[in-house]
Amino acid sequence: MSQGAINLVGKSRGELERLFVGMGEKPFRARQVMRWLYSHAELDPHAMTDLSVAFRERLSESARFALPTVMERQEASDGVWKWQLAAGGNQAIETVFIPEASRGTLCISSQVGCALDCSFCATGRQGFNRNLDAAEIIGQVVLAGRELAEAGEGKTVTNVVFMGMGEPLANFRPVAEAVDVLTDDLGFGLSRRRVTVSTSGLVPQIRRLAESARVALAVSLHAPDDELRNELVPINRRHPIAELLPACWDYVERTNTRDVTFEYVMLAGVNDSLVQARQLARLLRNRPAKVNLIPFNPFPDSGYERSTSAQVDDFRDVLMSAGIMTITRKTRGDDIAAACGQLAGRVNNLVSAPLGGKSVGNKSRGVSPS
Ligand code: SAH
Ligand code: SF4
Repeated sequence: MSQGAINLVGKSRGELERLFVGMGEKPFRARQVMRWLYSHAELDPHAMTDLSVAFRERLSESARFALPTVMERQEASDGVWKWQLAAGGNQAIETVFIPEASRGTLCISSQVGCALDCSFCATGRQGFNRNLDAAEIIGQVVLAGRELAEAGEGKTVTNVVFMGMGEPLANFRPVAEAVDVLTDDLGFGLSRRRVTVSTSGLVPQIRRLAESARVALAVSLHAPDDELRNELVPINRRHPIAELLPACWDYVERTNTRDVTFEYVMLAGVNDSLVQARQLARLLRNRPAKVNLIPFNPFPDSGYERSTSAQVDDFRDVLMSAGIMTITRKTRGDDIAAACGQLAGRVNNLVSAPLGGKSVGNKSRGVSPS
């Protein structure tokens, strides 16, 4: 295999068909190769025994099935696994597997870092370096599946969430390509309800997603008014709440999904008062919305504190009594910094002027913006 050989991991069925036809093969070779890759996690063309010997030989010369390189794998006391994967230039992205009684959720990264600079997020703090391509996104899923199978404990990936490092809708095309492979019967065969794209609120891309991917949508809301949201989620200055919410309701209508999940990180004394709970209820009442309250996961010098569990319960009760389905997300994997918002990987920041105009290198805040 030559190093310049094309990586076939993450290619859609249509792309593989085109490639193989270009090599003088029949289009159905794409189905065979996908089955080996995604059902058997086989990476060696020589082992793909229902292909002709000549085609196997050509594949091994001109193509490769390359997965990201594992730098480290950690296992938390609660069964969560976290991989650090090489992303070039001494950088790393992170992938997390969260086992539950009836499912296994893989939380994948879409970018090396993130440019959106949310004030409570460890990834945002690291800055942004580059987008991942579809091979690097799907590579995380193939790799995790292989290693979980090898461990022989019966752990499997049943759900995939784009809630690792990065803003998936800022890397639209590779994410849409990856969704295609995740939901293709010959890919991972996941139903669209089992694939969730989480966004901080890129409105034009939410509309575009409705046309192409139709997966479950999660929106990081985190504040019930623009003044606070501008501070916590700076992209709100470009797409305020009055623009974001209608895009969410349109998404539900156009994709026939049940609802949008609104994520709300509970920051003590910042966004967790009962007045704010009532404001949030007014925004979401009688809408196809549910709420996930996320206890804030701390990281060094974040400047924020987690709300008490009593406060989280009271906040939830306000929403529930307004008829809004609300759950408090359990914090998992925090002893290995694998919980929501703790993924920092290793990122060489290239962002010269993050949203909001703060300069690079001035990303530590130290004080709570209450
Ligand atoms: N960029 C996307 C997806 C990745 S973040 C987004 O923002 O939606 C996944 C979730 O973790 C988001 O809801 C994000 O707001 C939340 N999060 C970020 N930092 C966090 C922290 N320190 N504690 C808890 N949740 C956090
Ligand atoms: Fe980026 Fe999401 Fe973190 Fe905001 S919360 S900085 S959008 S990864």
